Amino acid sequence: MSEPSFRRDWITKPIFGWARHVLPTLSDTEREAIEAGDVWWDADLFAGNPDWAKLLAVAPSRLTDEEQAFLDGPVNELCHMLNDWQITFELCDLPPEVWDFLKRHKFFAMIIPKEYGGLGFSAFGHSEVIRKLSTRSTSGAVTAMVPNSLGPGELLLQFGTKAQQDYWLPRLADAREIPCFGLTSPEAGSDAASMTDSGVVCRGTWEGREVVGIRLNWHKRYITLAPVATLIGLAFKLYDPDHLIGEREDIGITVALVPTDLPGVEIGRRHLPALQAFQNGPTRGHDVFVPIDNVIGGVAQVGEGWKMLMSALAAGRGISLPSLSAAGAAFAAHTTGAYARIREQFHQPIGRFPAIQERLGRMAATVYLLDAARRLTCAGIDHGHKPAVITAIMKEQATERLRVTVNDAMDVHGGKGVQDGPHNYLGTSYRSVPIGITVEGANIVTRSLIQFGQGAIRSHPYLLKEMTALEDPDRARGLEAFDRDFWAHVAHSVTNALRAWGRAWSGAMFAPAPAAGQASRFYRPLGRYASAFALAVDVALLSLGGALKRQEMISARFGDVLSELYLLSAVLKRFEDEGRQEADLPLVAWCMQSGFATIEARLDEIFANFPNRPAAWILRFLTLPFGAHRRGPSDRLTQACADILLNPSAARERLTVDIFHGIGDDGVARLERAFALVTAAEPLRERMRRARVRDVDQAKRQALINDAEAAQLHAAVEAVAAAVAVDDFAPDELSPRRVVDSIPLQWDQLNRQTQSAPSPLVGEGWGGGS
Ligand SMILES: Cc1cc2nc3c(=O)[nH]c(=O)nc-3n(C[C@H](O)[C@H](O)[C@H](O)COP(=O)(O)OP(=O)(O)OC[C@H]3O[C@@H](n4cnc5c(N)ncnc54)[C@H](O)[C@@H]3O)c2cc1C
Repeated sequence: MSEPSFRRDWITKPIFGWARHVLPTLSDTEREAIEAGDVWWDADLFAGNPDWAKLLAVAPSRLTDEEQAFLDGPVNELCHMLNDWQITFELCDLPPEVWDFLKRHKFFAMIIPKEYGGLGFSAFGHSEVIRKLSTRSTSGAVTAMVPNSLGPGELLLQFGTKAQQDYWLPRLADAREIPCFGLTSPEAGSDAASMTDSGVVCRGTWEGREVVGIRLNWHKRYITLAPVATLIGLAFKLYDPDHLIGEREDIGITVALVPTDLPGVEIGRRHLPALQAFQNGPTRGHDVFVPIDNVIGGVAQVGEGWKMLMSALAAGRGISLPSLSAAGAAFAAHTTGAYARIREQFHQPIGRFPAIQERLGRMAATVYLLDAARRLTCAGIDHGHKPAVITAIMKEQATERLRVTVNDAMDVHGGKGVQDGPHNYLGTSYRSVPIGITVEGANIVTRSLIQFGQGAIRSHPYLLKEMTALEDPDRARGLEAFDRDFWAHVAHSVTNALRAWGRAWSGAMFAPAPAAGQASRFYRPLGRYASAFALAVDVALLSLGGALKRQEMISARFGDVLSELYLLSAVLKRFEDEGRQEADLPLVAWCMQSGFATIEARLDEIFANFPNRPAAWILRFLTLPFGAHRRGPSDRLTQACADILLNPSAARERLTVDIFHGIGDDGVARLERAFALVTAAEPLRERMRRARVRDVDQAKRQALINDAEAAQLHAAVEAVAAAVAVDDFAPDELSPRRVVDSIPLQWDQLNRQTQSAPSPLVGEGWGGGS
């Protein structure tokens, strides 16, 4: 029995009773999602007073010699082998030699430790590989990415028994097994926990012996690599009606390994996601029997599937899609800057028009920000964190910002971007953007429910502790813990309210900022917004309680503010890590101005829509006393950012570092050649402009330029014509038959081990059953 306490018994106790009804309660799946992974820099942001020294002390990730050699060797070689047009429109698959290369060089085993025969790469090494591949072929990158993301490999590493790891990991490492991960089913997409796929514990025969096992029935769809997989990491609900493994009948979500050559497994049919050729399709199982040992983690982990998935998802979300998106944005900016420089209309490069610069400036700054955030997140993961909220931010923000960037790229390219063909280098990115938006937690759910919804609970310094105390079945113990955490929370909130008020009313003049050269001025407002955010979160939780979960629009805006705080922290960190490159300052300033304007706008919208009006007025008075007055980057700043993409420079190189450049006569190679020739010939063009002469031959006749210079200018003109050209086709080249004829051949070659059904392309869609 604890000591009597006036505060606890007379003040906290009634609050305890009230809070039990008001604070959000957690379902089992929500609790498991919240307990998966950990918190990191997000906790500082939620606390309202970020410790900049701590952020700047995070050692940036570096490639090991081995990782660098892999990038320079196999990754480079693979990029040369990938031809996106051929993959997408001629084969509808990767060529057999690419599959073979991927397996031989262990691209599917980047996360598997060396002791099991894998490459054992760091998060950063893994990210760099995906990044480079993405700038050459989306289908190639996705195929390499998926076995290293959420799936059997990651799950075995985190939860497998020693025996399972010893058996399966070497087989995954040398690609004897091609894995896929089956969670989504027709009735259960975003609400994946509502799946009806089932497993029933029973006795059965396995390799000639009678063993306890599971009889599985499932129908999954959208599963990447399913059509060619040999091993499914399958999520299902487990039941034990005969109590063969314990007391519980309804055990819950469980994950098991299911070899695809077992009787009853149906795989092989394909979906065609946004016309991308990576392997994706449905899988079904009818009364498939696997021994209980195939449950990942063994009998001890039955019913723990949801927790396992959430935990494994946290790491995957932070690497795969953010790397692909950062690379896609860098590639789009690289090519669009070059195109805007070489494409002339109204007698000047289109990149000189301010309206085009508006797009280019945004693209350049977005690339800087996305790569900054990718690097910081990889560093966190490499330091042992599994920051679930940050990785949700990365997944949603990176894919959304890629969408904006690719749209900008398409708009600047005009018809050149629209007309598809082997020389079009934007079409694949444009088509594939919605895939990233949808997978690994569709973005609307991620933004409105996960970033802030889970963040508020798990990253908040006190909330989870308070909720745990409130749910404690031992009421006295719960009250004791609640008394301690609640009053610490109150003290924290009061301090934070004073801090937010002081920083808002003083223009953040006294907020802490490290000595970071010209970037120091950005830390103060960022600290100000972090305290405003933390205060608003506390008031929202207090006034809305559990109802906040249903206020998705408010929750999504809180998610946006939190996202900006994280991404802007990453921008400042990158500037510091790269030695404060002065030429990058416009990019840093653009990101900060744009982010500050977004934060103010979202806070303003939250207050305008806050159901509790007095609380909204107080919040506005304390945190936005002068309204949302930030207008974002100035036109001049935007133009300075655009200039970085329009002219060769070290800053341009830094921005688009390590993307794969064009080869041979492909579209990117043509563009890069034209860009190099046009920018090199600029002094000659300037000389002609000043003399008001447009025609090269006339300039030669007037001795404005010599023969060699005229040849240089002609070469530039020809290179531009080649870069601006688009593909055209003879009518029969576009006939569906061509596509149809090529597919069964690939299908047979690549799926000998499975009883493959004909592709939907052949059977129904384009081919009319031919
Ligand atoms: C190309 C591709 C590859 C994939 N690969 C795999 C794979 O390998 N393995 C696997 O298991 N799955 C895979 N998926 C499935 C993917 O994870 C799901 O598509 C995703 O979870 C969304 O489910 P859904 O498509 O059924 O959309 P739905 O759940 O039907 O959602 C439709 C829309 O409603 C929104 N929404 C849903 N609930 C809410 C809510 N409460 N509040 C607000 N908005 C809401 C969603 O954000 C979405 O915008 C893949 C999907 C695609 C397209």
